[in-house]
Amino acid sequence: MTETIRDHFRRRMRWAMTLSLSGFLILAAWLAWIGPQKAVASTKLIPCAIGLSLFGIGLYLSGSTRCPQCSNSIRGMTATFAAFKFLIRHPPGYCPYCGISLDDPWS
Ligand SMILES: [Zn+2]
Repeated sequence: MTETIRDHFRRRMRWAMTLSLSGFLILAAWLAWIGPQKAVASTKLIPCAIGLSLFGIGLYLSGSTRCPQCSNSIRGMTATFAAFKFLIRHPPGYCPYCGISLDDPWS
């Protein structure tokens, strides 16, 4: 089965959201464990570093999505709306720069 451009965006956005949410939850759990007042002076920074890294990688993945034809950056919102059709009534069907259909096969 051939993967479409939209399927590729969907898979990429799913990974980005999973990594960002995991990083956020790790940071929240770390803050709950350490306590907000002691977080600045804490020496137990490994969970904080892991959470920030996962969150950053997720943001990078969502922000670095590129059109396969024109290589222009289709940043987070366009790619997210294209990937998750239920978010808006009329999801984008074409690249805003070159006009390639997002339902064309990914090559
Ligand atoms: Zn394009």
